Amino acid sequence: MGQADALPNPAPLVVVGAGPGGYAAAFLAADLGLEVVLVDPEPNPGGVCLYRGCIPSKALLHVAAVIAEARRAADWGVKFTKPKIDLERMRAWKDEVVSKMTGGLGQLMRSRKIHHIQGRAVFLDARTLQIETTSGERRSLGFEHAIVATGSSPVSLPGFPPYSSRILDSTGALEIAEIPKRLLVVGGGYIGLELGSVYAALGSKVTVVELMPSLLPGVDPDLVRPLARKLKGEFDGILLRTKVAAVEERAASVKVMLEGPDVDKPQRTVDQVLVSVGRRPNSGGLGLENTAVRIDDQGFIGVDAQLRTAEPSIFAIGDVVGQPMLAHKASHEGRTAVEAIAGHKVAFEKAAIPAVVFTDPEVAWCGLTEAEAKQQQRQVSVARFPWAASGRAQTLGRGDGLTKLIIDLETERILGVGLVGPGAGELIAEGVLAVEMAALATDLKLSIHPHPTLSETLMEAAEVFFGQSTHVHRPRRR
Ligand SMILES: Cc1cc2nc3c(=O)[nH]c(=O)nc-3n(C[C@H](O)[C@H](O)[C@H](O)COP(=O)(O)OP(=O)(O)OC[C@H]3O[C@@H](n4cnc5c(N)ncnc54)[C@H](O)[C@@H]3O)c2cc1C
Repeated sequence: MGQADALPNPAPLVVVGAGPGGYAAAFLAADLGLEVVLVDPEPNPGGVCLYRGCIPSKALLHVAAVIAEARRAADWGVKFTKPKIDLERMRAWKDEVVSKMTGGLGQLMRSRKIHHIQGRAVFLDARTLQIETTSGERRSLGFEHAIVATGSSPVSLPGFPPYSSRILDSTGALEIAEIPKRLLVVGGGYIGLELGSVYAALGSKVTVVELMPSLLPGVDPDLVRPLARKLKGEFDGILLRTKVAAVEERAASVKVMLEGPDVDKPQRTVDQVLVSVGRRPNSGGLGLENTAVRIDDQGFIGVDAQLRTAEPSIFAIGDVVGQPMLAHKASHEGRTAVEAIAGHKVAFEKAAIPAVVFTDPEVAWCGLTEAEAKQQQRQVSVARFPWAASGRAQTLGRGDGLTKLIIDLETERILGVGLVGPGAGELIAEGVLAVEMAALATDLKLSIHPHPTLSETLMEAAEVFFGQSTHVHRPRRR
């Protein structure tokens, strides 16, 4: 139990769960001078994001990008031979990235003198936790404040066989135990498309099945279109409005039955199935029924703008409190909760929480979308800058991108930004700053962007709004 033995009981603050929400909260609390206990089953902080989410998936996507780039280099007069995949080395590299990052977080935790208990916590009441350590010890710990940061888990589909070496969830898929000849991805959300892209680059024939009429349901169709077009060339099949009606695991394969208007071959045999149909909050089994904390019918913990639950001593943050289930949202909520506990006047009121899909091309957006503007009947103008007109995009052989600004017609404030193209995930940060700082289209237009870069597409999209883009001739519509 380590430093926990030297702990005052009650502890001023206990953080339950050490994902990007929990560890960011614990670290800030320690920086503000609070004595903190951090409880999590893993040996080091990191949570889903570092151990089985954002970081390992991005390490593998980097491998996929290298393979794709080497293939495309033939267009530029450089021919590489077919890549030889050393799966063991690839896995080791991914694991090295994870252990470097989580080990670093462990050091940061220790240098801040945070008490770490490796185990699981359950609420006995609004002031007491029972903690069972991974070594089997049980102890109760009082607290003045607690932050629930227990994250989320993959949803499993009713009627599906349990997860196995053939029926994978995202955690199993990240293990890349083998490269299946045929992989069926159930769910065309960001996790399915990211992991599907990894396997396709490694040589699997990937088919994606999505219940809704488009990939990345809910995402701006202007941004999804270029990605869907590219994935059509890389995946063996993309079946929209399609349901997996039955799954039967066999010794060496999986038999699936598909249903949908576009399904020409309802019965298929594949080597593995990846189920990526969403995530559910980890709010059960925490003993929250012993407190006044409220949980909605989807399992999310109810919180106010300071992330305080209905129980004044208990706060909750991250995936367990709601969408968007993203690491950076969790971290910012964690920091807000800690500031509230420290007595600062704060609220979590973000105008822009960016979202990024790390496929090729990447898709990224923040703030108001075009569809939301329509729904809310807001008077906006949508300025689009196609990357075909960007010098930098052409030097990369990637004229297929798009930058899009949603601009308030009256105030000319930038309300939302959408991007699709390589590097969109990095570029969206400028959009976040613009939206959060209430920048006007003029601010973006007059800020000199370096040439030749993809960032110029944001400046030129603002120029498009005024009908004055250097590289797109499109008079302003009044
Ligand atoms: C494959 C994949 C890729 C992803 N890619 C991205 C991405 O690119 N960008 C992004 O922003 N997000 C991504 N996400 C989502 C991201 O991982 C989550 O939004 C983020 O981890 C949520 O952080 P959190 O702190 O709320 O909880 P989590 O990271 O889920 O951490 C919760 C922690 O609490 C622990 N815990 C649970 N119950 C208890 C208990 N009773 N006692 C003690 N500890 C407990 C868990 O073991 C876990 O360590 C991805 C997710 C997956 C699965």
